[in-house]
Amino acid sequence: QFPFGRRLPCDIYWHGVSFHDNDIFSGQVNKFPGMTEMVRKITLSRAVRTMQDLFPLEYNFYPRSWILPEEFPLFVAEVRMMKDSDPSWKPTFIVKPDGGCQGDGIYLIKDPSDIRLTGSIQSRPAVVQEYICKPLLVDKLKFDIRLYVLLKSLEPLEIYIAKDGLSRFCTEPYQEPTLKNLHQVFMHLTNYSLNIHSGNFIHSDNVNTGSKRTFSSILCRLSSRGADVKKLWSDIISLVIKTIIALTPELKVYYQSDIPAGKPGPTCFQILGFDILLMKNLKPMLLEVNANPSMRIEHEQELSPGVFENVPSPVDEEVKVAVIRDTLRLVDPQKKKRKDVQVLRVIAFSIQYHNLVHGMKDKQHKHHSLKLSLKLKFYLKLGSFQALEPVSEANEELLDADRPEYDAPRSPEAGLPSLCLKQVFPKYAKQFNYLRLVDRVAALFIRFLGVKGTTKLGPTGFRTFIRNCKLSNSSFSMASVDILYIDITRRWNSMGVDHKESGMCLQAFVEAFFCLAQKKYKSLPLHEQVASLIDFCEYHLAVLDEKRLVCGRG
Ligand code: ADP
Repeated sequence: QFPFGRRLPCDIYWHGVSFHDNDIFSGQVNKFPGMTEMVRKITLSRAVRTMQDLFPLEYNFYPRSWILPEEFPLFVAEVRMMKDSDPSWKPTFIVKPDGGCQGDGIYLIKDPSDIRLTGSIQSRPAVVQEYICKPLLVDKLKFDIRLYVLLKSLEPLEIYIAKDGLSRFCTEPYQEPTLKNLHQVFMHLTNYSLNIHSGNFIHSDNVNTGSKRTFSSILCRLSSRGADVKKLWSDIISLVIKTIIALTPELKVYYQSDIPAGKPGPTCFQILGFDILLMKNLKPMLLEVNANPSMRIEHEQELSPGVFENVPSPVDEEVKVAVIRDTLRLVDPQKKKRKDVQVLRVIAFSIQYHNLVHGMKDKQHKHHSLKLSLKLKFYLKLGSFQALEPVSEANEELLDADRPEYDAPRSPEAGLPSLCLKQVFPKYAKQFNYLRLVDRVAALFIRFLGVKGTTKLGPTGFRTFIRNCKLSNSSFSMASVDILYIDITRRWNSMGVDHKESGMCLQAFVEAFFCLAQKKYKSLPLHEQVASLIDFCEYHLAVLDEKRLVCGRG
């Protein structure tokens, strides 16, 4: 531990809370710049809402939410409208202060007029959300799931999900919300930090019982009741991938600002905690994402009144140790080195094989080449190339640099349990890539940010974007461009998102982009309008780059 910093470079830096060290020039850091800001309740709701505007069906795993105070009038109006159209609808809402955690300041209401407006909203922005009234119950109790997700890389996107997680139980039997029970936190909120204070909390050494269990134990129970556990897992995987797809555009803006491309800097990875609630019909709903999930494997026990002791918690240990161990295995710098050598060996081997097949015709050589080809297939299948013979002097030299590691035990991973982290992206990229529209809008935004280190676009940058992408014409003059810029930027800045820099933030740019897309491609659905405008812009920028390249050569 280096609480006051460390000068010697490291392979891996493990920061406690968030990415905070701009003096790291190499290695890997366990936090992404901007992640803490991105998963705050308001920012996450906004990012998901943008995706819901584009793909409402794909993003219906997040409860309908409104941002307070700015959307309070909208919240009141929409609820009134929905009640008018369906008088039998008796909703409950949950109000969550922005930046809060561990259930802090959360309360339930039945009507928008119950929001505690007395000063608190103005001083503390919040999200108000439709309350999921019919959660899945186990032993008559409400519970949520904490799943660990490794974002291994942002570009290219690499996501892993831990095969097991935690289920955190309420400590009072669940009843659907009524005015009488709304305030009963042990019935409605699953936070461990709250329920631990209930007299009913059960610490158990068994992962199948108690107030904190493994998720796999719940799955076993569901499966024995005949539930389609495979479908549940695939819904959870898709929820995780879609949520990360909603977060990546802004994360990329933060990333280029803290770690500019082309300058020495670390790469980042991060373990995220996903909080998920299962509905009665087994549909998983996203509650929130935690950028700094607790990795404690102990809990406090009161030995005698006022005397506490930390004792091991087998459930936490079972899940969390595996997550940290496998994260380190996946980001292991030595592993990358070994992989590179494996690739070199395959290339060298393939060259030898190619030479043999094409260069020699006699029977003996043909036989030899057949043997080589079988061997190559075998090694490729095995994923291990240790037994490959050295093939040429040059290659031998390259390989020898790492020989000691190679000749050591078969693999440093031998003897370790199989990975608990399962890759889901790029594995399932094909199914989800069509959702990554805002990512492409963010790439345009970043291109026009100009000076590195900023996260906001100035008026000149916006004008250059319009001009280079050939978006202005007789019906959309440069004066209208300026008005669009000023209108949207002013509104976003008045929402108090970030006053540190002036200019247009990514969310404001996305709004302006959607506006332009709607104007240009009137009759299409929004996601097609946006996709068409992105194609249009990317095409004109590619033509421009090509021209510049030719001019440069000239
Ligand atoms: P915190 O960061 O304070 O833990 P959460 O968003 O996780 O805030 O909410 C706290 C708890 O409230 C959750 O663990 C869950 O039990 C409950 N909860 C939150 N949102 C909803 C919702 N929309 N419907 C039902 N229960 C919810």
